[in-house]
Amino acid sequence: MGGRDATMVLLDENGIRCDGRKVDEPRKIMIKAGGLKNADGSSYIEFGDNKILVGVFGPRDVHPKHMSNTDTGILRVRYHMEPFSVGERKRPAPSRREIEISKVIKEALEPAVMLEKFPRTAVDVFIEVLQADGGTRCAALTAASVALADAGIPMRDMVAAIASGKVADTIILDVNNEEDQAGQADMPVGYMPSLKKITLLQLDGVLTPEEYKKCVDVGVKGCELVYELQKQALHDKYFGNRKD
Ligand code: UDP
Repeated sequence: MGGRDATMVLLDENGIRCDGRKVDEPRKIMIKAGGLKNADGSSYIEFGDNKILVGVFGPRDVHPKHMSNTDTGILRVRYHMEPFSVGERKRPAPSRREIEISKVIKEALEPAVMLEKFPRTAVDVFIEVLQADGGTRCAALTAASVALADAGIPMRDMVAAIASGKVADTIILDVNNEEDQAGQADMPVGYMPSLKKITLLQLDGVLTPEEYKKCVDVGVKGCELVYELQKQALHDKYFGNRKD
């Protein structure tokens, strides 16, 4: 963030962005429910050039036992980036960023999952980022919701996520890596469309109060688009003609 590459044209005179999209146009999104036979639930997402696999295990016993809660189940999330997922090799040890994103995704999913139905157990969500191109936390959160639903975990709603942001003084939907690096603001939004509740809201950059409001609105509208694709992915697996 903060104009590292001042020469890059993020928005041309026709209102077209550096990857050819319009300001309110998301990247191409493909979501698949299922796929991992050893997981209780799984999903795979391509969100532009992001490629992410999610496996869900549980509800299952908690080890060590003292970590369990007699009143409710617990959700554990591990967001992990493969060393080859980015241009410059990422060190394999968990980074501070990965630990923070794991926590952010866990907290964004918790309002959606009916953990109170599974006291003393844990639901584990493993997120593997195979390729990253800006917006991995939103893509991962979106895919994790589908994998939890695929595992049959009772949920109040799914969380759909996408980032809005600001480049060239203009509010945009779905910030890519270049826009994240050289743009003015990046706002990841996670939203439960049926319940109309935001469960993730972060902001990197500076916005006026009006821009802030617009960014939230654009993000929420984007989440509604993503939600349709999540539902379609589940529908394709359970009611479609898929052979696997
Ligand atoms: N990134 C990278 N190397 C790293 C971490 C991140 O190249 O070690 C890239 C990656 O493409 C990622 C982007 O920077 O998607 C933006 O990262 P950020 O921390 O803003 O999280 P994200 O937008 O992926 O949720």
